[in-house]
Amino acid sequence: MNHRLAKTLVTAYGSHTLFVLEDLTNVTFNTDDLPKSLRNSHRSWSFFQLESFLAYKAQAIQSAVVKVNPAFTSQRCPKCGLVEKANRHHDTHEYWCAQCQYRCNDDRLGAMNIEMLGQDWLNGVKHPKIKKLTTAG
Ligand SMILES: [Zn+2]
Repeated sequence: MNHRLAKTLVTAYGSHTLFVLEDLTNVTFNTDDLPKSLRNSHRSWSFFQLESFLAYKAQAIQSAVVKVNPAFTSQRCPKCGLVEKANRHHDTHEYWCAQCQYRCNDDRLGAMNIEMLGQDWLNGVKHPKIKKLTTAG
């Protein structure tokens, strides 16, 4: 499955593409759906495998894979920049900004933020990440 997915991605986007992935090293996943015996071993190996296949296939066609910090990618409003966990509504798979009222699908929002971090990388930021600004003072 991961071979096919990686192949589909490099075929669809072609050469000179930057694939931007969240760096999921040390991130744990919700594995409540899996039997207890599989939970630990399935935490991240398939993501690591996909990343390896994609990096290999991308390099072969002069494309590249970059990993970015996953912190706050599901919490940042792409319109006004507010980072707020409560803006994400898991039950409806929606992001709804309490500050500017921007609304969109939560997975799409994550993709938009990851793309932004990829742009930061292209602009020379070595380790792009979303910073949570606090208004407390
Ligand atoms: Zn907003």
